[in-house]
Amino acid sequence: MLFNVSQLMREPVGARRQAAMDEDWSPDGTSTVHLFGPVSLLRTDLGILATAVLSSEADGVCDRCLRPLRYPMHMEFSEEFLPAIDPLTGAPTPDPDDPTPFRIDKQHILDLDEIVRQAWLLAQPMQTLCRVECAGLCTDCGGDLNTGGCRCGTGSVDPRWAALAALRGETDDARKG
Ligand SMILES: [Zn+2]
Ligand SMILES: [Zn+2]
Repeated sequence: MLFNVSQLMREPVGARRQAAMDEDWSPDGTSTVHLFGPVSLLRTDLGILATAVLSSEADGVCDRCLRPLRYPMHMEFSEEFLPAIDPLTGAPTPDPDDPTPFRIDKQHILDLDEIVRQAWLLAQPMQTLCRVECAGLCTDCGGDLNTGGCRCGTGSVDPRWAALAALRGETDDARKG
């Protein structure tokens, strides 16, 4: 995710480079995902505007039945990176009033890692389901309702739960009464 922009920084405002992201990346330091998509680097008056539209796939579990699943990820971002040193003179640039984590370092390397990490978090779906009609797990026995794994009501209740079930029955009766 590193781009050497030393040449682009010496070009006039409006100069542009097109690149393609196609690499493995770790969102959490352990698992690895593959990221791909176009990256545009545009010279601005202050630095470089990096724009990307990235796709990937993430591993997770279904929110209802906890089955492992893989879901598509779509990320878009546009962020201006400011140089740590003047590209022509090599002198350190004064810090702007509002410090940005998005810096082009002294070796003229623009690193997209942090902005991709933020975009990755924003792109996480509110809900991940193996399928919209997933029936989930039985809240009583934990059995998978999609596969008939629930054994409640079949008379084969674990004896350790039987007392609890009986208690619940009494409570229900009391409520009805
Ligand atoms: Zn599910
Ligand atoms: Zn059940």
